[in-house]
Amino acid sequence: MIKLEDSYSHKGQRKALVRTLKKKGIMDERVLEAIGLLPRHFFFDSALHSHAYEDKAFPIGEGQTISQPFTVAFQTELLSIHPGDKVLEIGTGSGYQATILHMLGAEVHTIEYNLKLYQRTKKFLPRLGIKPHFYHGDGSLGIAEKAPFDKIIVTAGAPVVPKSLLKQLKVGGILVIPVGDMKSQKMMKLVKKTSKQIIQESYDQFAFVPLLGNEGWG
Ligand code: SAM
Repeated sequence: MIKLEDSYSHKGQRKALVRTLKKKGIMDERVLEAIGLLPRHFFFDSALHSHAYEDKAFPIGEGQTISQPFTVAFQTELLSIHPGDKVLEIGTGSGYQATILHMLGAEVHTIEYNLKLYQRTKKFLPRLGIKPHFYHGDGSLGIAEKAPFDKIIVTAGAPVVPKSLLKQLKVGGILVIPVGDMKSQKMMKLVKKTSKQIIQESYDQFAFVPLLGNEGWG
């Protein structure tokens, strides 16, 4: 079992990462504080520890990645998390994003399609004292039996906005999702104003691994 050790050097690297994120436009102090506190290297294979505080995505096995810190910060900022928000994350991956949401006071429900990643992260996060609600399955369909959610975040690139996710969002809720083709996606924020009215904002291009499953790429 890997030892979870933080050091002055890691803390210094996190401070530098937070400065980088501020320069790139992240303004939400609570998001920056959470990223400054959470040891990202805990979520990495030990061979990659020296890269943990670069503002880059890295492999986590199974052909998947831990998102770039800027992407995590950007998506989290768009969600405007309030303590107690019930949040659904699609794509648990390493558990880093789920942990940031937890640190902001959210009740986190996180679903992962890949069985090995699901099992690994479900076992790992409790070592950090964090126990979100874990699910294994196709998150493109949401989790109907746990709906509605205040916020939904999709951490894989979708071809379209899945109808199931919009349906499972509360009125007043926010869905943040990258939508595009397999290589590049536009970040979208959808706000459900009423059960019929959705307001949509779009942001820059990002490059996510594909959202698989029924309402994803299949
Ligand atoms: N949020 C993760 C983190 O903090 O490490 C990074 C997520 S990674 C960029 C995308 C994840 O989405 C992968 O782990 C992938 O297996 C998962 N995924 C892809 N399609 C999915 C689906 N339909 N339902 C649930 N998870 C899915």
